[in-house]
Amino acid sequence: MGAGEIHYCTVCRQLVKRPFRPGPNGRPGARCPRCRGLERHRFFALLLDLIGPQLTHVETVLDIAPTPQSISCLSALEPSRYLRLDLGLDNRLVDALGDITRLPVRDACVDLLVCYHVLEHVPDDHAAIAELARVLSPGGLALVQVPIRFGTTTDEDPSAPEAERVVRFGQADHVRYYGDDFEDRLARHGLAFHRILPADLLGPALCDYLKVEHAEPVWVVRRGPAPVEPVAFPGLISLHDAMLTQLANRTRERDRARRRVEGQRPPRPLQVRIADRVRASVRARRS
Ligand SMILES: [Zn+2]
Repeated sequence: MGAGEIHYCTVCRQLVKRPFRPGPNGRPGARCPRCRGLERHRFFALLLDLIGPQLTHVETVLDIAPTPQSISCLSALEPSRYLRLDLGLDNRLVDALGDITRLPVRDACVDLLVCYHVLEHVPDDHAAIAELARVLSPGGLALVQVPIRFGTTTDEDPSAPEAERVVRFGQADHVRYYGDDFEDRLARHGLAFHRILPADLLGPALCDYLKVEHAEPVWVVRRGPAPVEPVAFPGLISLHDAMLTQLANRTRERDRARRRVEGQRPPRPLQVRIADRVRASVRARRS
């Protein structure tokens, strides 16, 4: 991000003038200096906005491996029940400790489920995906993201030593790198989905302005068999409006400040002021 560049963070819902910081693995300009959110969190916030009209009757939200950013976005939906769940291996904020392959949740009761960057950690991801299918309510919706390389098949080996996992799967605690068959795995458990690429939805310019990765997909998942309809757009309008209002306000502030500066004449140097006074007194004596 160049000096003076301004971006809009969809998690903060603010214009951000300070430079974005490097993300994991030193990825430049990834982390918002205000909320510390990454590209994926900003697109997540945006997606919630987009599917907002479908979320008006959300009773139960299940957030697996919650982040401060997901908590902020999902809390804003004010669901009746919001369950944050994780294994408890790190100090993230959770309500319950639990394993995604045995979710401590009744069948068909989750209206919105978030499963971001979890499945690549789970040795038995089939059991995990089966659990997602079990707990989703009939109209429920899951947002799922995994690291994926299209054009390949999934490379996985839960027994690989750590050093090898870093090389093959990108991180010591990952057990696979997904490929094209990821979607078959969803379908095998009766899940229907719609894959969303940020660049398809927003276009590259808005991706850059919002600092989201162009090609990092998210799967909007439901219980099948009917395919998930493409995401509706009304929420984007409110986001655009908020952004544009802020931009307009800022432009007005800048213009006002410019006018103030232009209205002030710079103070004249002391010698000039003394000379003026001398001339004025000479004129007064002559008249
Ligand atoms: Zn932010």
